Amino acid sequence: MTFPFESLRASQPELEEEASANDRDGGFPIAGLARLRSLGGMSAALPQALGGFGLGTEPKSSTDLMRLLRLTGEGNLSLGRLLEGHVNAIRLVFRYGSAGQLHRLAAAIHDGALAGIWVTETTNGVRMTRVGSTYALHGEKMFASGALHVTRPLITAETTTGETRMLVVPLDAARKATESIGGLCGMRGAGTGACDFSGMHVTPDALVGQAGDYLRQPEFSVGAWRGMAVALGGIDRLVTLFRKQLVARGRETCPAQKDRIGLALIAKETAALWTSRAARVAEDAALDPDEAVAIVNLARIAVERAGLDVIELVQRGLGLSAFVKTNVVERIMRDLATYLRQPAPDETLAEAATYFTHNEFSRA
Ligand SMILES: Cc1cc2nc3c(=O)[nH]c(=O)nc-3n(C[C@H](O)[C@H](O)[C@H](O)COP(=O)(O)OP(=O)(O)OC[C@H]3O[C@@H](n4cnc5c(N)ncnc54)[C@H](O)[C@@H]3O)c2cc1C
Repeated sequence: MTFPFESLRASQPELEEEASANDRDGGFPIAGLARLRSLGGMSAALPQALGGFGLGTEPKSSTDLMRLLRLTGEGNLSLGRLLEGHVNAIRLVFRYGSAGQLHRLAAAIHDGALAGIWVTETTNGVRMTRVGSTYALHGEKMFASGALHVTRPLITAETTTGETRMLVVPLDAARKATESIGGLCGMRGAGTGACDFSGMHVTPDALVGQAGDYLRQPEFSVGAWRGMAVALGGIDRLVTLFRKQLVARGRETCPAQKDRIGLALIAKETAALWTSRAARVAEDAALDPDEAVAIVNLARIAVERAGLDVIELVQRGLGLSAFVKTNVVERIMRDLATYLRQPAPDETLAEAATYFTHNEFSRA
């Protein structure tokens, strides 16, 4: 059983149209999520035995998962971000949770649940305290995608002894959450916001894995390849639009513009090769974990660089028309530039450089 990639590709114009409509008022990609669901995209990461395609949870599935995330990002980066968070949560429950927890999550997803991973916080992070047979939660998550829409977020919480635990917290409409789209210039259709968990109680079966599992390497770092795959989709779309708009204006034969097209294609393929390498590394259990982390960290920075290069080439090549609000290129550049802001890029590059200063790339 294979995922219907061609149907997803055929849906891209409608995904892009919704992304542009949502950009105006910060709407949520309801139709895009429904389309993905109808194609099996929202359950694709579940093992086949639980009604999925096993993408990311069964061996040798990274190529297909990369294709799913890339095609989704090409249609709508915000939708891609939501899918990526959903897949990440499934992956963590699969990796660290019990069979019962995975079955329950699978049943909820088949019933329409949207999962996500909410870990970012500021000074009022989420803490958990034992109260009788439950855990009381205090604190909030920030920059949470789908703050008003995710119904099964996997969150991290700190225990009274300072350990980090993962929990899946079922949420309904009564949640204390806000969207902050007014403040974000890009990715306005991802419903990014804050959610306050203070006053909520969960039972022990909400806890996924053991203390420290969330930060356990190499899983913690290598999963970043999935975000790269979504960003790559945005890069793909920008390069396509760049070529087409130059042709439409009869400017593609100018040598300087040919150079830019060539450089944009190189950047796109560089991002694709690094993402593909990172995806293979992430599922290679035989590789030294430190090397796996270092390769994926290099890949993260390479994809970021490629995305920023493409944005600059498009801006210089199309000129002011790339800044006109009615040009879809303008919105995609804002979405991509925002999406590329991932945590701690300096540390990511420095750690990878340190590793490969003292170690050779293995030939695996
Ligand atoms: C659209 C969108 C959706 C998101 N959705 C989610 C979500 O669903 N769940 C979630 O948990 N998070 C989410 N996030 C947050 C995301 O995971 C990152 O936390 C966030 O994007 C980090 O961006 P930043 O540029 O502020 O990173 P930072 O890590 O703050 O980096 C900013 C700069 O500061 C530098 N820097 C970092 N640390 C230090 C330091 N200690 N000293 C000096 N310099 C430092 C970095 O190298 C970089 O140059 C989302 C973000 C976006 C944009």
